[in-house]
Amino acid sequence: MPRDTTAIIDVPALGHNLQVVRRHLKAAPSAGNHHHAVWAVIKANAYGHGLQAALQGLQQADGLALLDLEEAVYCRERGWTKPILLLEGFFDPADIELLRQHRIGTVLHNVEQLDMLAAATGVHGAAIDAYVTMNSGMHRLGFQPDEYRQMFARAQALQQAGTLGTIGKMTHFASADYSVEITRAQLDRFNAIARDLPGPVSVCNSAAVLAQTLTPYIVGESQWARPGICLYGASPFLHIAAQAFDLRPAMALVARLINVHTLPAGDGIGYGLTFHAEQAMRVGIVSCGYADGYPRHATTGTPITVGGVRTRIIGRVSMDMLAVDLDPVPQARVGTPVILWGNGGPSVDEVALASGTIANELLAGVTPRVRRVLEEDRQKPATDDRPPA
Ligand SMILES: *Cc1c(COP(=O)(O)O)cnc(C)c1O
Repeated sequence: MPRDTTAIIDVPALGHNLQVVRRHLKAAPSAGNHHHAVWAVIKANAYGHGLQAALQGLQQADGLALLDLEEAVYCRERGWTKPILLLEGFFDPADIELLRQHRIGTVLHNVEQLDMLAAATGVHGAAIDAYVTMNSGMHRLGFQPDEYRQMFARAQALQQAGTLGTIGKMTHFASADYSVEITRAQLDRFNAIARDLPGPVSVCNSAAVLAQTLTPYIVGESQWARPGICLYGASPFLHIAAQAFDLRPAMALVARLINVHTLPAGDGIGYGLTFHAEQAMRVGIVSCGYADGYPRHATTGTPITVGGVRTRIIGRVSMDMLAVDLDPVPQARVGTPVILWGNGGPSVDEVALASGTIANELLAGVTPRVRRVLEEDRQKPATDDRPPA
């Protein structure tokens, strides 16, 4: 039997969370946007959930947005026919041929990309859809506001030449999870420059979609939201639980107890013996550690569910194991199932909070040695795909 540390992926939860996004987009008052569409962001191996699960669960999305050209081609090969967008654009002149061949759209954020496209103009091939992105204040990617219109005009010239297809306008918010003021200022800067330029507009990440406070100020022919983290059932907000938005966790990280024993009063446990038993206590060892993607920074007290009972981790997380307090779970024994996060256990947001990070990092950080199993396959009797004994 393989080591039983598994990420169980609930594919229908992805579809459900996409519906939640659509409900928010529909309910929000709009500034003349007649059409809302959704780029489902599936970068980082669909935030750790696997591209296969994402393709299945997010079938109803209007497009897929990711970073890696190879992953984009994989989506095409798996039968995805709707738009695909590269959020960092392309990196090399040789990529352009693949964009044409597989009808993959690109973000344009630097002048080098425009130069590469200009050099590829005249070569026979399909027109490439693109978003010209503006640095409206995050200072990560994008053209500066004062050069934006000039760069947009260059993109339009490439469109005239048949190299580019539809051209959209895009920016990315730095603080949509906590500051409406900062985000409004970014949006105002973006609108002031880009409002009268033609094309669809794409500005909203998960936090902006769910907060809805900005929607009346988003102007464009159509709005293509770009939700990521909320599709996987985690909250983009520090102080609002995913449940408050009716989001469902799409991943459960599960393992088992591989040892159960008594920690004598006064003794410590794990590396550095950072946790000491005040009185003798039952403890369990779980087959999951930081080499599986469980955060080493999770502190004593981080919630975990053992045999259906919520308890806490104790001491330092090791590479392959961690220790749990079994006093609240007297029935626990070797083999008892453990839920580290997800359905039936603490939320990934709770574990993230206890380890000083966000759910995005934990989900995307589940390592390749953790088996990914689709919930629906797990529920099938194990004999289903095995020859009779
Ligand atoms: C990652 C990313 C998103 C999705 O962000 P979430 O906060 O996960 O919703 C949207 N747009 C861009 C450009 C991104 O890089």
